[in-house]
Amino acid sequence: MFGTTEIFLSDKAFMSIILSSVEVYKNECHGALLGFQTQGRIIVEYAIPFQSAKRKFAEVTPNWRRELKVIEVLPKLIHLQKLGYFHSHPQFGEKRGFAQLSETDKKYMQEGEIEMIVAINDAKKTAPWTETKNKLSGTLGKYHLTVAGFYKKKKDSKITQYRILCPYATGFDYAFEQ
Ligand SMILES: [Zn+2]
Repeated sequence: MFGTTEIFLSDKAFMSIILSSVEVYKNECHGALLGFQTQGRIIVEYAIPFQSAKRKFAEVTPNWRRELKVIEVLPKLIHLQKLGYFHSHPQFGEKRGFAQLSETDKKYMQEGEIEMIVAINDAKKTAPWTETKNKLSGTLGKYHLTVAGFYKKKKDSKITQYRILCPYATGFDYAFEQ
């Protein structure tokens, strides 16, 4: 699949991202993504949630990225690379969260890094985890979550949405489908 890149989410990374989004709902959760890259694939091995004493909306205070000092040392210890960050977009009152980058998100993304957005909303009904339109979505308890991944190119700073593969969540390996 030349020219396309996919984000592969490990079971550990998926659980961290989903559980930290649920845990702080209706606040936003933030964290770092660690893993490695191969031809056409960005493999997210770990998602490290950022434990903040004061959780705010990232749109207001996007500086949380700088507060993640642990990510400077962690990749050296476990031989993984910092791939980027994740954060959630929770429902706020009647306003539902969307798995899209805000203008602030786009601005603060670093070149050569990915950003994963988790939209978390009150679930209207139970839904199995599926992959639709490059996004991963499903329910966990009374929450509906949608995960999307974006990448900012080094060359021209253009942002592209990448498909997310998570066999753990969807219950099958896409590789077997082809
Ligand atoms: Zn955001």
